[in-house]
Amino acid sequence: MTHDNAGTTGPRLRGVLDTLPAYKPGRPAAGGGGMPSYKLSSNENPYPPLPGVLESVAGAAASVNRYPDMACGELTAALADHFGVPAAHVATGTGSVGVAQQLLQATSGPGDEVVYAWRSFEAYPIITQISGAASVRVPLRADESHDLDAMADAVTDRTRLIFVCNPNNPTGRSLRRDELTRFLDRVPSDVLVVLDEAYKEFVRDPEVPDGVELYRDRPNVAVLRTFSKAYGLAGLRVGFAIAHEPVAEALRKTAVPFGVSQIAQDAAVASLRAEALLLERVDALVGERTRVVDALRAQGWTVPETQANFVWLRLGDRTAEFAAACGAAGVAVRPFEGEGCRVTVGEKEANDLFLEVAARLR
Ligand code: PMP
Repeated sequence: MTHDNAGTTGPRLRGVLDTLPAYKPGRPAAGGGGMPSYKLSSNENPYPPLPGVLESVAGAAASVNRYPDMACGELTAALADHFGVPAAHVATGTGSVGVAQQLLQATSGPGDEVVYAWRSFEAYPIITQISGAASVRVPLRADESHDLDAMADAVTDRTRLIFVCNPNNPTGRSLRRDELTRFLDRVPSDVLVVLDEAYKEFVRDPEVPDGVELYRDRPNVAVLRTFSKAYGLAGLRVGFAIAHEPVAEALRKTAVPFGVSQIAQDAAVASLRAEALLLERVDALVGERTRVVDALRAQGWTVPETQANFVWLRLGDRTAEFAAACGAAGVAVRPFEGEGCRVTVGEKEANDLFLEVAARLR
């Protein structure tokens, strides 16, 4: 059979890609001009890798001619031990956003619905749209937190997955045990609830539950965690889910084979071993968070309560101007046009410079 390609314009791509919102990575720090510059735009950890991490990276780098352990066996065992869960309940992936995309592949497609709060993590609409399912966005409450009653009301017989971002990116607000369990009790047991806890290590409110507590007797709950934030391995792309076996098994089926490099696996294991220092560093960042929030409020800004490593300023029309002024002063922040700016809590010098700029813009 012959094919006549005359008149064709290339491969047919899925129409869904035409309207895909773009993921906007945080801008890098400006640099140059002899002026200090800081990146507070991607919620990264300002500290260098934990002790033992660089050595394990170098060790694994010597074998990059080999494929990694596809099952991420050592890391999976270390995580199972760390969280007190069966290894069969742990599934790793290329960052927690990679695992979130796999959860969508495993549950949702054309004709299905995915519910999430908005504004929330900007990857949710993108990966939902790629799956072919429809996004159902439930506006945040006036205090910038999830409206869980409205989210439960939004569930239909087409709903396959619900993202709950706790603490919420970019507003920092978190959900407490009572309201979250009440919500989980309302969601039908055949709908997967994904508790995205990328910032869990920064939570200090004892009323904010650990998703790992909540998933244990709920087969429709999956907890998403990452090594990118508190653990400081954003560049290595490793995250994981804790979920009951059918969901964890579905994640193994939908994983890109060998997606998590051996370098990432070994670095993640080394980071878990250095947890004492990690917790010290996280404590220091939490201390800086309190300082930044208090200072901003003293300057007269409205700052929602945050349990994450960032603060949120709802600036509306002033968003672009605020972000540009921060950038010009050497602090890259993350603007969401017309809505507000998210500013990561970084090293002390970065926070000081940001606070100076914020005071000037008041
Ligand atoms: N979830 C939330 C809420 C996030 O803010 C992020 C990172 N911005 C992620 C998931 C993804 O992180 P990673 O893919 O690096 O694990």
